[in-house]
Amino acid sequence: MTSLTTDAALLETGSRLTVDLAAIRANYRLLATRAAPAECAAVVKANAYGLGVEHVAPALWEAGARTFFVAHIGEARVLRGVLPEALIYVLNGLTPGAADILIEIQARPVLGSLSEIEEWAAFEKDRGMPGEAALHIDTGMNRLGLRLGEAETVGEIFRAGRLGFTPSLVMSHLAVGDEAEHPLTRKQLADFRNVAALFPGVPASLANSAATLTGGDFRFDLCRPGIALYGGNPAPGAPNPLQPVVTLDARIAQIRRVPAGEGVGYGAVETLARASTLAVIALGYADGFLRAAGSSDAKKGAHAVIAGTRCSLVGRVSMDLIAVDITDLPEGAVSPGDFATFLGAGISVDEVAGHAGTIGYEVLTRIGPRSVRVHTG
Ligand SMILES: *Cc1c(COP(=O)(O)O)cnc(C)c1O
Repeated sequence: MTSLTTDAALLETGSRLTVDLAAIRANYRLLATRAAPAECAAVVKANAYGLGVEHVAPALWEAGARTFFVAHIGEARVLRGVLPEALIYVLNGLTPGAADILIEIQARPVLGSLSEIEEWAAFEKDRGMPGEAALHIDTGMNRLGLRLGEAETVGEIFRAGRLGFTPSLVMSHLAVGDEAEHPLTRKQLADFRNVAALFPGVPASLANSAATLTGGDFRFDLCRPGIALYGGNPAPGAPNPLQPVVTLDARIAQIRRVPAGEGVGYGAVETLARASTLAVIALGYADGFLRAAGSSDAKKGAHAVIAGTRCSLVGRVSMDLIAVDITDLPEGAVSPGDFATFLGAGISVDEVAGHAGTIGYEVLTRIGPRSVRVHTG
């Protein structure tokens, strides 16, 4: 759905991020199948991994998602604005003094420490209306959550009916979720089973995207995929069963002939081995296209698809521009103003991540506000 506004906006900026909502819905349905009989939630933190939560969350709701996870209270507020009936959890927990905001938004904190639990319980006692919250147990990641010993204590208090609020979910997070047989994953799974048993009747959740696809024992009552919804491969190296979701196109600003032997871009780190035709394209690291994905004589970089052909980046990615070698395209195949594709058309977020020494999650979440966002499907 390319609107006039989008076309006008595109004349004023260099790039366009197209998000295929039909692909997101299809990915959710596949994950829900793998999660079954457990419920499949959707992780939409960081503006739905950078793709626009106002559009992505309603698409997920349409596909059947009812439980959503965000990282921050502000993200919960935005999500509540688009999904009035969703069950929303805030993963980063209870910011001291923020309990009344959570109640106002009707979002539930994922409580990750004894002090957060105490503050929530005291707040609920004052309110006289015990509300719900999730409990986060750390089974080995050492990020957020109660240590196992603390979870045992809280479990005793819960079973004695003295917790002061209703835990609606007990959850933990895997450190190496893409390796089901990793010793740490086996230990986390075993420990989480024991922890979940401390909270009889409370639904349990362990799986991220990778563990949702693994299925089996990892499913518990609720799965929490994120990256897989957006087409990223949760288990890099293995075939990706998800549909690609994003296309990143950027405009060709200039086409130029450069003689063999000259360097291209900052630092002149790549020297042309032959006389070349370069397309200089209006996309750079200020748009979130990672500088580390650039090219040099020592290390070849990422690709772009131009006029249906895969072409190599040449030289460093600068703030606002990238050079691409189009020598092998037929004369006149493209002109300034045409678009080059940096994600999509067979180029996955994981492929670009590989060139940049990072992960698909970072490639997605870095794409900045300069790119016009178009949601299709
Ligand atoms: C981000 C996050 C997820 C989703 O992880 P993916 O690897 O993107 O599927 C699930 N649970 C927690 C606690 C998270 O922080």
